[in-house]
Amino acid sequence: MSLKAIYARVPFVQNSDIPTKLGCELTDDGLLQIDSFQRTSVDGIYACGDSTIWMRSVANAVATGANAGAFLNKDLIKKAFYQN
Ligand SMILES: Cc1cc2nc3c(=O)[nH]c(=O)nc-3n(C[C@H](O)[C@H](O)[C@H](O)COP(=O)(O)OP(=O)(O)OC[C@H]3O[C@@H](n4cnc5c(N)ncnc54)[C@H](O)[C@@H]3O)c2cc1C
Repeated sequence: MSLKAIYARVPFVQNSDIPTKLGCELTDDGLLQIDSFQRTSVDGIYACGDSTIWMRSVANAVATGANAGAFLNKDLIKKAFYQN
């Protein structure tokens, strides 16, 4: 019987070690751990795109990037509001 196809589940590896050097935690799958608001485990660091999701596509990178920017802005406004 001739071989027709091979499927491989290639492990995901982060391209940059900057987030982990800053203390950001990874999921068991190697993605940056984020909450529903794109916040990593380190206060003030947000992540989006391929480093955070299995569904790697331009559409998802743009969508999560837009959310990261919006939630970051919201968190900054909230901090500034309560400090004043
Ligand atoms: C071969 C291929 C084909 C694809 N085809 C499609 C497709 O047809 N349609 C689709 O929707 N998606 C496609 N994708 C997936 C899509 O390209 C990605 O999901 C998308 O580009 C992710 O965007 P991103 O901004 O998260 O990451 P990237 O686009 O990977 O951007 C990360 C950027 O960070 C830079 N960077 C990394 N480390 C550092 C550092 N230390 N300092 C400064 N900069 C750094 C990198 O150089 C890069 O420019 C394809 C991917 C590949 C590999």
